Amino acid sequence: MVTYYQKPILIEKGSMQFLYDSNGKKYLDMFGGIVTVSVGHCHPKINEALKVQADKLWHTTSIYYTSAMFEYAEKLTATMPENLSVCFFVNSGSEANDLALELARLYTGRFDCLTVRNGYHGMTQTVAGATNLGNWKQPLPSGFGLLKTMCPDPYSGPWGGSKCRDSPIQTKRNCDCSSSDDCKAGKEYFRQFEECLQFDFPAATGPAAFLAESIQGVGGTVQYPKTFLPKAYDAIQKSGGICIADEVQTGFGRLGSHYWGFQANDVKPDIVTMAKGMGNGFPMGAVVTTPEIASVLKSALYFNTFGGNPLASVVGKAVLDVIEEEKLQENCEKVGTYFLKELAAIDSPLIGDVRGKGLMIGVELIDENGAKMPASRMANIFEFIKDKGVLTGKGGRFGNVLRIKPPMCITKSDVDQAIDAIAEAIKTVQK
Ligand code: PMP
Repeated sequence: MVTYYQKPILIEKGSMQFLYDSNGKKYLDMFGGIVTVSVGHCHPKINEALKVQADKLWHTTSIYYTSAMFEYAEKLTATMPENLSVCFFVNSGSEANDLALELARLYTGRFDCLTVRNGYHGMTQTVAGATNLGNWKQPLPSGFGLLKTMCPDPYSGPWGGSKCRDSPIQTKRNCDCSSSDDCKAGKEYFRQFEECLQFDFPAATGPAAFLAESIQGVGGTVQYPKTFLPKAYDAIQKSGGICIADEVQTGFGRLGSHYWGFQANDVKPDIVTMAKGMGNGFPMGAVVTTPEIASVLKSALYFNTFGGNPLASVVGKAVLDVIEEEKLQENCEKVGTYFLKELAAIDSPLIGDVRGKGLMIGVELIDENGAKMPASRMANIFEFIKDKGVLTGKGGRFGNVLRIKPPMCITKSDVDQAIDAIAEAIKTVQK
C-alpha cells in the first residue's frame, strides 16, 4: 500500500477536532478522515445516540420497518428541495453513485453518461469508470458508457479566470472577462461540454446522465467557473438526461453559504448522492431522488442488507441535529472564510493558488519556476506540517494540492495554529 506519510502514525483516539497517537501526541485534524468526520471525532451526542440504539436493536434488513430509518429519511429529505423526497440507503459513496447511475439509465432508457475529468466518484467497477484520475486507476476495464468532459479548472486549465469562482479568493490568473456574470473560462469550458453532447453521444437518444461534484474533492478542491454547472445542468436536462449531484464531500453545510453544494451552484439535480460526512465516520451512504425516478426500481426487487440499518439511521439523524444545534454551517462560513484569507496572505512563491469555500479548502503548491511542486518536496512539506502537530490532506492529479477539510467545529485559533505550521513548512522547503 502507498502510505500517506514517510513515518506513518498510529492513531489511538479522537476527540472533536483532535486526534492522539499511540505515543500520546496530540494532532489538530484538518482533514477529518478525508472529509468524513463532519461534526467532530467521538462527538458525545453521536456516541450517545449510537449507544442507546446498540442496546435496543442493531439490525433487521429492510424486510421489516424501523422507526429509526423513517425518522432519519424525513429529516434528511427536509434539507432538500421538495421534489427530492425518496431515499435509498446504502453503505458508501461508491455504492451511492453506482445506484444513481443505474436509476438514471433505467429512467431514461439511455446508457451513456457524462462525467468530468479529474473528478472522483468511487472505486467499484462501475464508478471507477467515472473516477477520472489516472493515479487511482488499475489497468483494468471499468464502467462502460462513462464519457468525459474537460475539467473546468480556471487555475490550471487553458483558460484563466479571475473573478469567476465562487470563493472569497480568486485565481491570480487573469482572463478577459467582459462582464462579471460570465467569463472566457466559463464560456470556453461550456463550449467544449456542448461539443461532447454533440459528438460523443448517440444522436438518436443523448445522455442518460451528467454526474459531477459541486467542487472536486480528491481532484484538489477544484472550483469551476460560476456559470459552468448551471449551463451544463440546463443542457443535460433539456436533452432529457438526469443530473446527479455527488455531495459526498460538499454536503451537510461544509460550504458555509449553503447546506448542499448544488444549492451554492444554483442548480436543481434530479438525484443527489452522499456518504462520508453524513455519518461522521459511521459507514453509510444515500441516494435521494424524486418519486418518479425512484419508481423505476419497482420492476425488480431492490435489496441492500445493511443500507438504512438502525445504527446508521440514528447516527445520521444525530449528525443532522448537531449541525443544526451547534450552527456548524455558519461556523464553516465564518471560520472557513477566515482560513482562506489567512492562507492567501502567506507570502511565498510556492503558493500557486488558494481556493475553496467554507471549510472545503485547497492550496496548490508550485516550485520557484511555476511548475507543479514535485512529489519529494511536497512530501517534505506534508511531513513537516504533521510533525508540527497538524494533519492535512493531499490531492490533485499531481498530488500537489494541500487539502484542508476539517471537522466543521474548528475555531479561529485552530486556524491560526494550522497557518503557522503551513507557513513554516513552506518557508523551510523554499530555496
Ligand atoms: N464521491 C466523492 C466525491 C468522493 O470523494 C468519494 C470518496 N473519496 C466517493 C464518491 C466514494 O466514496 P466511498 O469511498 O465511501 O466509496
